[in-house]
Amino acid sequence: MAYGMDQRHLPTPSLDSAIDWVAEHLGDLFQHESDRPLARPDAPPSAVDQQPIRGGQEAADQALALTSLTGYARFRNEVLPVNRRGATRLSPYIRHGLLTLERVWQSCADASEQDRVSFRQELLWQEYSRHFYARMGTATGDAMRYRLPDQAVGASDGWPEGMACVDQAVAELQETGWLTNQQRMWLASHWSVRLGWDWRRGEDLFFAQLLDGSRAANRIGWQWTAGALTGKPYGFSQWQVKKRAPQLCRTCAWESACPIEQWPDDRDAIVRDDVDPRLRQDFDLGHTMGPTATQMVDAREPKAVWITAESLGDDDPAMSAHPDLPVHFMWDVPLLRRLRLSPNRARFLAECLADLSGRRELHVWRGDPNAQWLNEPVATTFAPVPGWRGRAGVLDITRVHPWPWLTQPHAGPIQSFTAWRKKIRGRGSQP
Ligand SMILES: Cc1cc2nc3c(=O)[nH]c(=O)nc-3n(C[C@H](O)[C@H](O)[C@H](O)COP(=O)(O)OP(=O)(O)OC[C@H]3O[C@@H](n4cnc5c(N)ncnc54)[C@H](O)[C@@H]3O)c2cc1C
Repeated sequence: MAYGMDQRHLPTPSLDSAIDWVAEHLGDLFQHESDRPLARPDAPPSAVDQQPIRGGQEAADQALALTSLTGYARFRNEVLPVNRRGATRLSPYIRHGLLTLERVWQSCADASEQDRVSFRQELLWQEYSRHFYARMGTATGDAMRYRLPDQAVGASDGWPEGMACVDQAVAELQETGWLTNQQRMWLASHWSVRLGWDWRRGEDLFFAQLLDGSRAANRIGWQWTAGALTGKPYGFSQWQVKKRAPQLCRTCAWESACPIEQWPDDRDAIVRDDVDPRLRQDFDLGHTMGPTATQMVDAREPKAVWITAESLGDDDPAMSAHPDLPVHFMWDVPLLRRLRLSPNRARFLAECLADLSGRRELHVWRGDPNAQWLNEPVATTFAPVPGWRGRAGVLDITRVHPWPWLTQPHAGPIQSFTAWRKKIRGRGSQP
């Protein structure tokens, strides 16, 4: 096995010491516990008492088995108290391929119709964001449909007012790496709609903290909230807090002079006159969706499987097709140095690898995946993200397995969820 000077083979992590393992081998690439880029230094803790979301296939299987969708439709948007929340917290497992959307879709077959339809609608939002990102790629880093008013880049990296609703959500994000959808909308709206700060900076801060952080769903979430996708910004005011987390207002220092008592001022969103034509039509559908069947690049048999952070679960198509081959994973040093992800995210990913190493011969590397690091023929799974092709290009790939889409991407419009959904085929259109 030949590899470049900076490519290092690491020992495999173990489940009970994932945090120490990260500190020892990757400590220079992630934030540290003491870095609090989001929270105000004097902010109170989040007051949520929940088990941390653990990484790994076993934890994912257990979480899915314990998921009850009873009341999901009614309680999905609840924030506090925690025991009223209907959200499943499955997102980190879905994000990293430990639970495929297909498997989660099937798992709710016995839920009541109302809960099933509501839940599957959210799974479709996830699939929509993946289709969107697969087609538009890095262009999603800019406003897609509507030009927003000039946005000042956030002067600080935090939310300065000290309101209980904002502080609580920020503290929870920092402590646990997860938020309900409602809290995400609150923070994103406060940041981009009321304060008028650049949504891309806020999106980066979320991305670094969220265990489920993906450019696909996070950019759709921020663009949708800021109004860049629909032309209608999502307003956040005291009304939502009183409805979804009433205790926060009761304990807030600003209770009698709430700075968000009113809806934020209307900000004119201007229709772009240069809407990217790819929003209406995919001119290269094959590129967007990747192979639809296993691609035999040549006749050689693979000697190893390469996996990415998109696909860390046992159902990864390449791992399933080659159950006896060793598996390789690379921590992307240049990327991680730039992203500075949270210690929570590092811990979660290390736990996924630790768990996998209990079933497979796993080789963990750190280095630059865009420089040569493996010189034997490998099998892998296509990942619908812009960086995948570059990384695949330096490897000696002999098999590419298809990405497990919930529903195949189509070439029609994707400028809105509704427009996209009308064109999807198969079970995806029938929740
Ligand atoms: C500003 C903002 C940023 C977001 N960033 C992310 C992100 O980085 N990664 C991410 O996976 N989701 C993101 N979301 C979507 C959504 O908030 C989370 O997927 C959801 O809160 C995860 O919690 P859950 O697993 O309990 O969801 P549930 O309500 O239990 O839903 C089940 C699954 O459906 C999917 N889902 C639910 N709502 C959405 C949605 N609105 N968009 C896309 N998929 C959805 C998720 O995979 C989720 O696990 C963001 C939303 C907003 C408003």
